[in-house]
Amino acid sequence: MAPRTLEGANVTHGIRATYVMYGCRCDLCRAANTASQARLNAVRAERLARGDLTVELVHGSHNAYQNYGCRCDLCVAGNSARCRDYRRSRRGAS
Ligand SMILES: [Zn+2]
Ligand SMILES: [Zn+2]
Repeated sequence: MAPRTLEGANVTHGIRATYVMYGCRCDLCRAANTASQARLNAVRAERLARGDLTVELVHGSHNAYQNYGCRCDLCVAGNSARCRDYRRSRRGAS
């Protein structure tokens, strides 16, 4: 979904919806997104620690590493592989 245009829109800055729906990257919206992401991640990490996950976590995936904060061997290895690929594709692109 392409972000809606901010031009002429009556948006409230400092809420995550503006960041997500309008793609606004002003300081206020970025801070709101970071805060809500951090809250979500904390909840997920806690669930992971309790073994109380509603979804099956795919270890080695970006989701497990980033959003659930899992640092098992698979997740750590998957993350370093992604970093490698990322750097490689950046080098190729520019
Ligand atoms: Zn904003
Ligand atoms: Zn893991």
